This record gives sequence, C-alpha cells and structure tokens, in this order.
Amino acid sequence: MAKKDIDWGNIGFGYMKTDKRFVSNYKDGKWDEGILTGEDTVTISECACVLQYAQTIFEGLKAYTTADGRVVCFRPDLNAERMMDSAKRLEMPTFPKERFVEAVKEVVKANIDYVPPYGSDATLYLRPYMFGSNAVIGVKPADEYQFRLFATPVGPYFKGGVKPITIRVCDFDRAAPHGTGHIKAGLNYAMSLHAIVDAHNQGFEENMYLDAATRTKVEETGGANFLFVTKDNKVVTPKSDSILPSITRRSLMTVAKDYLGLEVEEREVSFDEISDFVECGLCGTAAVISPVGCVNDHGREIVFANGSTEMGPVISKLRETLTGIQMGTIDAPEGWIVEIK
Ligand SMILES: *Cc1c(COP(=O)(O)O)cnc(C)c1O
Repeated sequence: MAKKDIDWGNIGFGYMKTDKRFVSNYKDGKWDEGILTGEDTVTISECACVLQYAQTIFEGLKAYTTADGRVVCFRPDLNAERMMDSAKRLEMPTFPKERFVEAVKEVVKANIDYVPPYGSDATLYLRPYMFGSNAVIGVKPADEYQFRLFATPVGPYFKGGVKPITIRVCDFDRAAPHGTGHIKAGLNYAMSLHAIVDAHNQGFEENMYLDAATRTKVEETGGANFLFVTKDNKVVTPKSDSILPSITRRSLMTVAKDYLGLEVEEREVSFDEISDFVECGLCGTAAVISPVGCVNDHGREIVFANGSTEMGPVISKLRETLTGIQMGTIDAPEGWIVEIK
C-alpha cells in the first residue's frame, strides 16, 4: 500500500471518489450489518421520501495524520450523538453510536492511502448521512432508510494564509424558533443556498443570520457558529435553541477555559452589542476557526478592532491550541482523539 499520487497541498474542498464507503440499510424495524463497498452510486425509488420530502440528515468530521504519524479522528462520538438527535427530529431511526464510530474507523482504514500526510494541512473528510429510501407519496416518514459514510480528501481550508472575511447581516432567516436549526438536516442547507449565492453576488463571504422571531440576536452563519472576544479577553458564544451545536465551537470553549484560562460565556448575544467585541471567528470542522474582520449591516460596517486585517490574538491562540491538540503536539482531554491506525 502506498499513498495515492495526489498533490496534497493543492486539493480544494471538493468531492473526490475514494475506494470504499460503508452502507447499512434499515428495513422491518432494524439495521442490517452493513458492508464496505466500492459502489459509489445509490439506486432508490423515484418516489423515495428523501427525494420528495427531503428526509435526510448528515454529519461531517475528519481523519488526519498527527505529528507522530498516527491516523486519528476528532471526537466522532459527538458526531454520532448529534446524528441521533437529528434522526429523532425527522422521525428517522437512530444509527447506534458504537456502530457509527466503528463505521468511521472502517472507512478510514479502507481508504488509508487517501489520508493526507502530516504537514500538508489537508485531511480526509468523512461524510456520514442517512435518508428515507422507500417510496412515500402521502406525507409521512419512510419505513426504510440507508445510512452511508464516505470519505474524500480535502485541501487546507486556508490556502496562502488566513485573511479575515467580511460577512453581511442576512435578510433571510435560517431557522425558525422551535424549528430544525439545531439539527444537521439537508433541508437547512437547501433553503440557505439562495441566501449564500446572493451574499456572494453582493461581494460577501458569508451570511450572519439573526434570530427569526425578533431579528435582534446573533445566531450563526449557514454552516458555522460564532465566537466573539470582548475587550477584556472574555470569549462569548451565542446561545439559542435554533443554533446547530458545533463540536468545534464546544471544543474551543473548553480550550479557552481549561487551556488558556480565559473566561467563557454562552449566552444570548444581541446584535447591537457586537460593535463592543474586538475579535470574531467562525467555528466549524473544515476551518476550525476562521476570522471575521467586518460585519456589514445594510451598508454600515462593524469592524473588529483587533482582527480586521489579520487574525486577532485570542482567535489565533484558540486556533493554535485546538489544532495542536488535534495534531498531537498538545495533550488532549480524555477521549477527544480517537486512534484509527
Ligand atoms: C455543521 C455545522 C456547524 C459546525 O459544526 P462542527 O461540528 O463544528 O463541524 C455549524 N453550523 C451549522 C449550521 C452546521 O451545519
């Protein structure tokens, strides 16, 4: 076995077919054993619930090579748990946590030659997902489901340095109160596509969504949670029932508190107070944390004093520490790093 002939430093964030993926089917009230397969296409009824009523959920995590050459992944148990929460909300069967973590390990092992080497800043992105697969025409949950987990190598999120981005306050809503904003469902992304295309057309890199009910509180972007830093170095993240609980954000809050000794707060953040913050970052698996330099509110620019031209000191330190933990150069909290090979 040898590493695939891939220019690791120059692959983007796109899909590349790898050798094996895991597939398990749910029928007659239970999941089958599941298999690793080379088959990368899916054949389902033209009337499958996923195609008609968008009954689908997903997860995203990564496997990578540590400084000492181990292949590991980061907190897959939390992805498994979150996927169970997503499944319940969409009336889907849950895929058991132990089996989820096992599937992650199997898929990474079966595609080990696609795991980018340490230092390339590339990773093997893992995409578990599940969908209602049998024909449903009256609106109701499917009876049959498929769980799949594939792997695709992805390049460094920040090619050529990390530059703070400009985002805009979005006039579209992402998640209703008591809706589905807190789960990782495809439907949340389908309806965000227009908003993100529109943002890009207007020259902004992301949307800042406010709470749908009052439009006075900060929620998140289409795919990342916010962290803010106050003048006195307190790390603040918005609290809301309609935010997707980012594993990266939860990990960074622990890092801030336990590794950097900073004060942390998860609380409602009113939009009016963001001009008081000195740094802002977006957290998610792909980029860990990316700096936001400026928020554009219908033409009014809110600039973060310590992070508008380059990544601010607290966000930098958070990023450095979490990536150090992930890469094995800083001791990790118990259970955060799961060794595969
Ligand atoms: C996946 C996702 C995130 C980031 O979560 P991580 O677990 O850190 O990758 C944030 N917001 C939304 C809406 C998401 O779907």
